[in-house]
Amino acid sequence: LSSKKIAIVGSGNWGSTIAGHVGEKVLQLQDEYDQRIVMWCKEEILDDGSKLTEVINEKHENTKYLPNKILPENVLAVPDLDEAVKDADILIFVIPHQFVKQTCEELKSKVKQDAFAITLIKGFYVDEETNELLLVSEIIKSTLNIPCLSMMGANIAKEVADKVFCEATVGSRDNRHSEIVRQLIDRPYFRVRFYPDVEIIEILGALKNVIAMCAGFADGLKAGFNTRAAILRLGFREMINFCRLHAKESSPDIYLESCGIADLIASALGGRNYNGAKKMAETNRSLEDIEKEDLNGQLLQGPGTAKEAYTFLKGKNLLDQFPVFRDAYLICQGEVEPKQLLENLTHHPEYS
Ligand code: NAD
Ligand code: 13P
Ligand code: CA
Repeated sequence: LSSKKIAIVGSGNWGSTIAGHVGEKVLQLQDEYDQRIVMWCKEEILDDGSKLTEVINEKHENTKYLPNKILPENVLAVPDLDEAVKDADILIFVIPHQFVKQTCEELKSKVKQDAFAITLIKGFYVDEETNELLLVSEIIKSTLNIPCLSMMGANIAKEVADKVFCEATVGSRDNRHSEIVRQLIDRPYFRVRFYPDVEIIEILGALKNVIAMCAGFADGLKAGFNTRAAILRLGFREMINFCRLHAKESSPDIYLESCGIADLIASALGGRNYNGAKKMAETNRSLEDIEKEDLNGQLLQGPGTAKEAYTFLKGKNLLDQFPVFRDAYLICQGEVEPKQLLENLTHHPEYS
């Protein structure tokens, strides 16, 4: 009986964290899993001229994207994508969502046909022809021809790397896959719960970044606590209504899980999208500049998702029903001032 091989597709802030998390976990599961975790790392030359993959493999630290956190020695950074996934039975996708299509295209016919994937990626696309949502799990499934689960939750990477308690929600419709994910991820300080709603979990994970930005705009404008809470409530209401345009949930409890309300709260307290949006409202600088200057290569998922959400809602003639999502995009574009978002709350469709 051969042991299952795991590949992490991605090595950013969350990617490196989850590689370390799974790396530690397989050491406790000796026979069932290959003891080496392969982590695809898009090669880059650091300021001192060294290669990022070599630094990771020598120092066991991703000094650029997850500094000061030591990775277990069984995590191996591999610069070649095909090489990284070649023998994998389980592929954990964790790259910024804007690179999913090109990365999956490159992997076409290169993964094992009995492998399965799980996406930890927060973002989606809109299909230009049909104007329907094109989810990351669906792109992975259709391009690689393997099943794809999803896992989202209130999981700010640095805190997970510090082993501070959190939870996550896994979308899976196959008990064998669920059991593997439980073995690889669930720990006393990282508890997972399962639902069959792969797509809704993923949509919530993407949408919360947009509402967290709105919380950032409000906080940057020094709105009162009541207003900030109202933005989160109205934004969360819009998130639920948005999900229901794509799929019917197995149970409304899904919105009360970590992938729903909890991720929104964590992100609106201190996520990167929140911080960037707050700074934008405070300084009037563009989000693009703030991302470049403050994040050292880490990427915001909120602005891209705001655009896709706007396109989707506009195509359905529903922008009036989703004013928080509409204004989030227009603010990102610099077309309206952040204060307009607050003014428009007074006549939100919730009150009509
Ligand atoms: P990140 O924000 O640290 O982004 C940097 C990574 O992007 C680097 O590994 C870099 O190599 C990679 N990258 C740059 N150009 C690329 C390209 N052309 N092709 C492929 N990769 C490229 O990444 P992250 O924090 O690991 O986030 C990945 C996903 O996980 C996102 O969707 C994010 O929303 C989600 N997520 C992040 C956190 C977190 O706290 N960081 C928590 C939960 C979920
Ligand atoms: P940010 O990308 O805004 O930091 O959010 C991280 C996250 O998704 C926490 O669950
Ligand atoms: Ca190659």
